[in-house]
Amino acid sequence: MNELKVGFIGLGAMGVSMAGHLKRAGLLAGVANRSAAKAQAFAAEHGVTAATPAELAKTCNTIVLCVSADADVLGVTREIAAQAQPGTIVIDHSTVSSTTAKEAQQLMRAAAGDFLDAPVSGGVEGAKNGKLSIMVGGDADALARVRPVLDAYAARVSHMGGIGAGQNTKAVNQVLIAGIMHGMGEGLALAEALGLDPAVLMSTLTSGAATSWYLEKRGASALRNEFNVGFKLALMHKDLGIGRDLAAAAGTVHEMIDKTLADYAKLMAQGHGDEDVSAMIRLKRANR
Ligand code: NAP
Repeated sequence: MNELKVGFIGLGAMGVSMAGHLKRAGLLAGVANRSAAKAQAFAAEHGVTAATPAELAKTCNTIVLCVSADADVLGVTREIAAQAQPGTIVIDHSTVSSTTAKEAQQLMRAAAGDFLDAPVSGGVEGAKNGKLSIMVGGDADALARVRPVLDAYAARVSHMGGIGAGQNTKAVNQVLIAGIMHGMGEGLALAEALGLDPAVLMSTLTSGAATSWYLEKRGASALRNEFNVGFKLALMHKDLGIGRDLAAAAGTVHEMIDKTLADYAKLMAQGHGDEDVSAMIRLKRANR
């Protein structure tokens, strides 16, 4: 492939920082977003073009996605495939199913291009600091060609196997986080009920064996009832649906996944869908 010319689609909590890293690395040509105002604001601030996915496909040889869900990835990939130059590679950082990744790869291969599933972990902080862990599925040569794109915001890039292997790894990641949300929510709700001092509690727990990324980054804010930063629980509900389907097909136990799906559905029905996943603590307090 010639010099990398990158278009970025999906300027949300994660995408806006990732696109900024690509601009600083000298790789970004243009951006697109469902609500055009976000793309226009980013373009004006960073001196790149605001466009539609189809327009980006005509001018870029690498297109990065960080959109919401499966239908978004397939819809945008269809628009790109219809206009793409041969050799165009789509890199998808959204969390979706491995079935969607396989379908999207077929769309791009039919257009003489390729598709990599490349979901990320590390939260909005990881995106801001350029320290994401990226789990990639797809062709090794395609990955090697676009590697400078991922290196612009990765702490680690792991090639997990063929198409969909990145998404399967991410599904496992989300199941682990679901367990952490239950442990953290129940533990911190109990700490509140016992009247423990939040500041001393947090510094003590984060220095011991019970610490975790989530306790360090979201424990104190959960105790303050602040859930406006981070990872929307409605997106986690989508991710756990993927994990539940994989576990059901594999025949492994998914009772914790089922419980978490029900809990997040309850919070969404109460109007908390845009809150961070640490809002699980709401359901763990005595006065819920
Ligand atoms: P977000 O804040 O909701 O952002 C999603 C962005 O994508 C929005 O700007 C949205 O546009 C845009 N978008 C959605 N569908 C689109 C489409 N069809 N065409 C063009 N643009 C579209 O979500 P996020 O937190 O950045 O997460 C994005 C993806 O990364 C999700 O799949 C999520 O599960 C995953 N993820 C998130 C985190 C995290 O900590 N936040 C961590 C790892 C992975 P609008 O402005 O119109 O809404």
